[in-house]
Amino acid sequence: MPGLYERLDGKKAKDLRVLSDFVAVYCREHHAAEDRPPHPIRDDRLRAVLGERAPVLCEDCSRLLSHGTAKLLLCPCDPKPACRKCDTPCYAPGYREKIREVMRFSGPYLVRHGRLRLLLHYLK
Ligand SMILES: [Zn+2]
Repeated sequence: MPGLYERLDGKKAKDLRVLSDFVAVYCREHHAAEDRPPHPIRDDRLRAVLGERAPVLCEDCSRLLSHGTAKLLLCPCDPKPACRKCDTPCYAPGYREKIREVMRFSGPYLVRHGRLRLLLHYLK
């Protein structure tokens, strides 16, 4: 899609990293047994954002991340509201349920693990 990555500003870059982390954690914890090649990144600007952290994903999760990436870049709201608070949800059916499941799992997971790292830091 021409112009899609022109929309990649600092705020969207940060959101994209979070989205990518969320999908990556979910996939790692649920689909470890599946074939998981690195998520293909076809644009240099996107590669600059995800960089070395290009997530390793199964086919389904890779498709979900591509869908989410496109939707995030196309989001007309500024500032972007939390997706669950948005009046005009843009994810296609199927992807919408899936990303909700990912958020429900990975949100608390990352908080728990972030806290754990912080705790270890204090205990050192
Ligand atoms: Zn997966």
